[in-house]
Amino acid sequence: MRLMASLYRTHRPKTLANLIGQDQVAATLRNAAASGRIGHAYLFSGPRGTGKTTTARILAKLLVCRKREEDAKFAAEGEACNDCDRCVAVDSGALLDVVEIDAASNRGIDEIRELRERIRAVPTQGPKKVYIIDEAHMLTTPAWNALLKTLEEPPAHGVIILATTDAEKLPATITSRTQRFSFRRPGKADLVAKLAGIAEAEGIQIDEDALELVAAASGGSFRDAESLLEQARGAGATITVTHLEQLFGRVSSTRVHALADAIAKNDAGAALTILNESEVAGASISDLAKQLVHYLRRATAITADASVAELYRDALTADELETLKGFSSSLTPERGIYLTRTFLEAYRELRTSPLESVPLEIAIVEATRELK
Ligand SMILES: [Zn+2]
Repeated sequence: MRLMASLYRTHRPKTLANLIGQDQVAATLRNAAASGRIGHAYLFSGPRGTGKTTTARILAKLLVCRKREEDAKFAAEGEACNDCDRCVAVDSGALLDVVEIDAASNRGIDEIRELRERIRAVPTQGPKKVYIIDEAHMLTTPAWNALLKTLEEPPAHGVIILATTDAEKLPATITSRTQRFSFRRPGKADLVAKLAGIAEAEGIQIDEDALELVAAASGGSFRDAESLLEQARGAGATITVTHLEQLFGRVSSTRVHALADAIAKNDAGAALTILNESEVAGASISDLAKQLVHYLRRATAITADASVAELYRDALTADELETLKGFSSSLTPERGIYLTRTFLEAYRELRTSPLESVPLEIAIVEATRELK
């Protein structure tokens, strides 16, 4: 049995080109590396699982890669070779000149004091010493004070990379001395593309609908998406949407669209059948209602102004967006507003109802009688 996080480790990007959803960060770092202008201090901020630590390791390799040091033409490409002794050692955590400190586990005081002493000493294996401080917002004031001294007068060979989910907690005296990069949550299409690549490489049988469900359940974190895929794989040879709906308590976008479509067409029979099938399949009725409300409110917003659809490009895949637009064109704004309100109310009731599906069922009957 493989560990839960193994997919994440195996398929972690090893080059800037392989970073997904962080084009701006990758392009800027590649240019800096290509022109040999990598700075002394970096701040990587953004939500968890967006690739901050992974990028910090890639940056460390760019700084110590032997091939880059010996081959100017290769160095101008702005990527590490991932093949030389030093790149391999960084990947396995064996290069002494690249140190990772987890500020969350011990608040970092001793580590930062040690960093202050050791970063001054000449590197032992390569041209640079790199300190990656993870969860940097957890550092204490004494640790920041110790770090500030180093940032004020960094040794020529020293590079410090701070990674954090909460940059606002860092002292301004520190952040003003760093080059700051913001990592964005990847779009759903980015996550699906990445998961599809992993599934293919690992021989995991999973269809597009199921991949979308994994991406949606991950909340925009690559790490969580990959753990969920790993979890899904553990349960059977072929991964189906129905299976995942039970496993994650999350309903597929196909089911949500079918329900919205039946309601919009005043087809009570079809809508109630979908609700019943969802219950039988063990899907979460609460999640079905919640996603239905999101679906309806987005469609309604598009009826007001078609360009609003662009706002949903990160939350939805390209196919889902097209389906939503098509659905929206079947609605008048008034009908959209009525349906959104009706099902929002049903969702509110459902959360305190002793019988989860009843408020949704009543709302379906009511909405499909409405002749607006
Ligand atoms: Zn290398």
